[in-house]
Amino acid sequence: MLPAIRFDVLTLFPNAFTGFLSESVLKGAIVTQKIEVNLHNMRDWADDKHATMDDRPFGGGPGMLLKVDRVVPCVEAIQRQQEPGRLLMFTPQGCRFNQPFAESLSTEKRIVMLCGRYEGFDERITEILKPEEVSIGDYILNGGEVAAMAVIETVMRLIPGVLGDEDSNRFDSFSTGNRILDCAHYTRPREYRGLAVPEVLLSGNHAEIDRWRKENSLQRTQVKRPDLLVTSASVSSLKTETTIFVDSKKQQE
Ligand code: SAM
Repeated sequence: MLPAIRFDVLTLFPNAFTGFLSESVLKGAIVTQKIEVNLHNMRDWADDKHATMDDRPFGGGPGMLLKVDRVVPCVEAIQRQQEPGRLLMFTPQGCRFNQPFAESLSTEKRIVMLCGRYEGFDERITEILKPEEVSIGDYILNGGEVAAMAVIETVMRLIPGVLGDEDSNRFDSFSTGNRILDCAHYTRPREYRGLAVPEVLLSGNHAEIDRWRKENSLQRTQVKRPDLLVTSASVSSLKTETTIFVDSKKQQE
């Protein structure tokens, strides 16, 4: 059986993924062949004695850069192993990774991901490979490995059959059934330190529970993430489908 998605991660630190891939839902997705994750150590493409992947920047300045003559042949060789698929390059200067972006990846057969390190990539790597440049947020990580893990885990959740309950990812925050924030949830005990579970959730009236959840979602979104709500009309009518999620393309405009 072919996996739904084959991920190929190009990194200088493949061991960083060992624990991550061997736990919980992700482990299950690999064992049941819903996904396949191939880790490639880019150093294997360095032909000198010291397996040099980086060098000092022309013009001076701090840090080291990943070398174009090492990274490009490595990416091209891995792309040739199968149909090339989508090529993502992690950089804080890229398009912001979010739920719609993950949804667009979840229908791909193959996703190749290039993790930077040090001061990043020689610019010609981007010019030659023309990857999709992807950021997971406005902050600086040591490398792209954590970003690759975020992509694998988010995309994997969208593959049919990976999560036990198919509804659970539809109603998560930002997701297709609810582009706003998820509502509040409670479990036992019914009361703790004077805080009681909202009565409606104990009522057994599913129409009322549904209405409460929609209202709660909207209220929370208004307070915590008003940027997700586009029109005030959508708030008053409780029509969550008229709200839109700020997608990565719009962020760039
Ligand atoms: N000098 C680069 C800059 O200012 O844009 C930052 C280099 S960073 C220390 C090293 C590598 O970590 C990057 O090449 C990228 O692969 C990864 N990285 C760091 N922050 C990231 C982020 N927010 N999203 C995605 N990748 C990131």
